[in-house]
Amino acid sequence: MRKMDFVETTKLSLNAEFNFRCHKGIKCFTKCCSNIEILLTPYDVIRLKNRLGLSSGEFLSRYTTMKIDEKTTHPFAMLRMNEDEGKTCLFVTPEGCTVYSDRPANCRYYPIGQGTLKVEGKDGKPKDDEFYFFIREPHCYGYHEKKGWTVASWREDQGVDLYDTMNREWKALQLRKNLPGHPELDPKKQMQFYMASYDTDAFRKFIFESKFLDVFDIDKETVEKIRNDEIELMHFGVKYIKYVMMLEETLKVKEEVLKAREKK
Ligand code: SF4
Ligand code: SF4
Repeated sequence: MRKMDFVETTKLSLNAEFNFRCHKGIKCFTKCCSNIEILLTPYDVIRLKNRLGLSSGEFLSRYTTMKIDEKTTHPFAMLRMNEDEGKTCLFVTPEGCTVYSDRPANCRYYPIGQGTLKVEGKDGKPKDDEFYFFIREPHCYGYHEKKGWTVASWREDQGVDLYDTMNREWKALQLRKNLPGHPELDPKKQMQFYMASYDTDAFRKFIFESKFLDVFDIDKETVEKIRNDEIELMHFGVKYIKYVMMLEETLKVKEEVLKAREKK
């Protein structure tokens, strides 16, 4: 997250044009990699932990801090910065980003920001409207370069399509703050949200080493997928969060469990 003073309010479409070039010879090289808050998505964490050969728990404790969003009460993993005066990112060196090909979605988008709003679709049903905006920080000289882009070609060049596809459902959860009443998450739900979002190893353990599969009716194919594929587990995590937050009945309690509960 960049300082709001530099975020332009004009909403951009994918066809919006701008000039920009970021390269090693520019005088502001790596200036944008310090003193910032970078919110991580579940897919960011998977890419980075795998890049570093760490478990999700190790990655989260070494490289992130937790932040509770004031409006939604959702817990987020933020990229940890050095505690030196410059508050530099732990991954930046004078040569640039050491995790470049696995850098988070927010780093890929910069100097473009991306937002989502809930709007009414043509059929009268609510739909998510994605839009873009410029972030023009005074230290960034990239805008003075001649190379021309559209938002669409920038996204393609930076490889954000895959990140957006992976994160779309999870990001839609954040629009919950627009629901009437803004129901708050209690600390237990915050921990469930955080684990299912970011700590894939702990979430897998929870599913396979607790009574979870005795209680919930999950088909065999899904069970095998989430056992063996962490991307499937990540998507299942969103279903679990929706259930925990009572947004959608994405999980079904087994009939026999319901009957046993009735008898008590
Ligand atoms: S400040 Fe702008 S131009 Fe300079 S390195 Fe960062 S993104 Fe590139
Ligand atoms: S992850 Fe890489 S691109 Fe992002 S702030 Fe850190 S060094 Fe810069």
